[in-house]
Amino acid sequence: MAFACVLAALPSPGRAQDTADGALTVVRAAHLVDVRHRRVIDDVAVVIAGGEIRSIETGAGMPMGAEVIDLGEVTLLPGLIDVHTHLLHEYDREHGDDDANRILEIVEMRAADRALLGARNARDMLEAGFTTVRDLGNSGINNDVALRDAIDGGWVPGPRMFVSTRALSPVGGQFQELVEAAQPLVAREYVQVDGPEQARRAVRQAIHDGADWIKVIVNSDSLMLSPGEMEAIVDEAHRAGVQVAAHATHGDAAAMIAVQAGVDSIEHGYTISDDVLAVMARKHIALVPTDSPTAEHHRARIRRAVAAGIRIAIGSDAYYRADGLTRGQVAARIYPRYVAAGMSNMDVLRSATLLPGELLAPRHPIGTIEAGARADLIAVRGDPLEDIGALEDVAFVMKEGRTVVNRLTRP
Ligand SMILES: [Zn+2]
Repeated sequence: MAFACVLAALPSPGRAQDTADGALTVVRAAHLVDVRHRRVIDDVAVVIAGGEIRSIETGAGMPMGAEVIDLGEVTLLPGLIDVHTHLLHEYDREHGDDDANRILEIVEMRAADRALLGARNARDMLEAGFTTVRDLGNSGINNDVALRDAIDGGWVPGPRMFVSTRALSPVGGQFQELVEAAQPLVAREYVQVDGPEQARRAVRQAIHDGADWIKVIVNSDSLMLSPGEMEAIVDEAHRAGVQVAAHATHGDAAAMIAVQAGVDSIEHGYTISDDVLAVMARKHIALVPTDSPTAEHHRARIRRAVAAGIRIAIGSDAYYRADGLTRGQVAARIYPRYVAAGMSNMDVLRSATLLPGELLAPRHPIGTIEAGARADLIAVRGDPLEDIGALEDVAFVMKEGRTVVNRLTRP
């Protein structure tokens, strides 16, 4: 709390440009995708004040005195939400595999380097149309909290961030074998828990450090957290009103332990079984598939998850450097994968906006264009219901009523 007060007292240039209280902005467009009701509204005007959507109008009528942004022949959508990012984390294939990169990142990057890398990625994500992200660890020690607060304070541009601080994990984090002298490095990136009491302590520490979510690596290699440890984590987090994201891969045991403990989302779940999906459906646990554009072999589970009625919230899990592409451009390329896996374009749009919005912010709506929701909007020139690739070329971005990108109209 003390830190938040300090931030508020410092200069925050972004705030000065916010929509003034009460001033009306109207965004007009030829089409709007109403993801909640699975329909398209034509010739539409979104009325915005104080960073929030006040109403959706059709036809010619316009409120008196409003600033009108007429985007013309485009489709408006809610701002994209990426629920699995690592903005303060970047690997380079030139350095080798995950393991080699993991060591280099810790020994060569200062906390300030990580934060500045995060600032670049945050700006790139926002400019690509992502107005909200959930950032799940690999940020050093609490550097994600600093980036979130810097964005909230208007110091740097970026999406609204929900952050986890360091991921909780079995001994060794996600490192492979490390010699004894190198093992203290693990704590730079992970909080290793041994036993339910340590698990509780780790959750309390994360929340004290500023975590909005708890990220748990349920399994890494052959090591796996126990049911007792997972139950302690979920119990402690939920008591504080904080949700839990569980990384679970390699078979079914880790995912089953996590869903039985009552986590809120399963990350990856590449080999998830119908048995686990049935528990997830019953407990309304989201699946965050994080499929890369080349993840052919995991495709079938998307179809099974849809059939089981699972809430799918799409996350990019992007963290490798890609020549010629920003982090945001990499993240925006994930959607065709889900159409190829059998989801309808409308379902993919919902899994990129509404469903992640419900997962992250059930009380103050995001990921939907409707009265009372945050004014997070994007516009694309193509028709995303015909070609989901339209999301790769976002021409207009508004976050909380403030225009961030406008490649469509002259000022
Ligand atoms: Zn990840």
